[in-house]
Amino acid sequence: MLPIMLPIYKYWRVPYYLAGCKMYDVFASKENMDTSYVMSKDKALETFPMLKSDGLVGAVVYYDGQYNDSRMNIALIILIMSAVKHGTFAANYCEVTKLNKDGNSKLNGARVKDALTGDEWDIRAEGVINATGPFSNALLTLDNPSHKPIVQPSSGIHITLPNYYSPRKMGFLDPAMSDRRVIFFLP
Ligand SMILES: Cc1cc2nc3c(=O)[nH]c(=O)nc-3n(C[C@H](O)[C@H](O)[C@H](O)COP(=O)(O)OP(=O)(O)OC[C@H]3O[C@@H](n4cnc5c(N)ncnc54)[C@H](O)[C@@H]3O)c2cc1C
Repeated sequence: MLPIMLPIYKYWRVPYYLAGCKMYDVFASKENMDTSYVMSKDKALETFPMLKSDGLVGAVVYYDGQYNDSRMNIALIILIMSAVKHGTFAANYCEVTKLNKDGNSKLNGARVKDALTGDEWDIRAEGVINATGPFSNALLTLDNPSHKPIVQPSSGIHITLPNYYSPRKMGFLDPAMSDRRVIFFLP
C-alpha cells in the first residue's frame, strides 16, 4: 500500500481532486486499500519539506499499490515453465506479422517471425489474444486495415534519485505541470 499526495495550489482544485480520488476509491471497490483524504498545508509541508510553500493550500492523498516487479517476473517465468511442463509451447522474441483467417474471415491463427533467426512459421489457434499494450492498434490493423485506433500511446522516463529526496512512506503526484505532463515521485 502506498499513499500518494497531490499538492494543491488553488482552493477550487481541492473538491476537484478529492472527487477524482473518491472515484478512484469507488473503482477500486473491495480492492481499495484505504480512503483518500484532504491533508492540511502544514502537514503537507511536514511530509514533503521541499514542496514550494508559496500559494500551497493543502493536498489530497489517495492510496495506490506497489509491488516488486523482479518478483513478478520470476512468478511469470515459473508460470510459463509450468505451462510448458503441461504441454504448452511458449516462444519469446517472436513477432506476429500476419493474422490468419479461414474462408469465413474468422481468425484461425497467426504468422510469426523469430526476431533472432528470421525464421517464419504459422501457428494455428482457436483464439488470438491481443495483449500488445501500446502496440494494440498495429495488431488491430492486421485484423482489419480500416480499424480505428483505440489506444493513444504515451511515453515517459524513469529517473532514479538518492532516496533522501522522498519520504519513505509517501509518494507524490503532480497532475498539472506547466507543460501538461504528469510527474510521479515514488519512494
Ligand atoms: C515510463 C513509464 C512508467 C510507467 N509507470 C507505471 C506505474 O508506475 N504503474 C503502472 O501501473 N503502470 C505504469 N506504466 C504503464 C504500464 O507500464 C503499462 O500500462 C503496462 O506495461 C502495459 O502492459 P501490457 O502487458 O498491456 O503491455 P506491454 O507491457 O507494453 O507489453 C506488450 C508486449 O507486446 C509485444 N508486442 C508488440 N507488438 C507485437 C507483435 N506484433 N507480436 C508479438 N508481440 C508484440 C511487445 O514487445 C511487448 O512485450 C508506466 C509506463 C511507462 C512508459
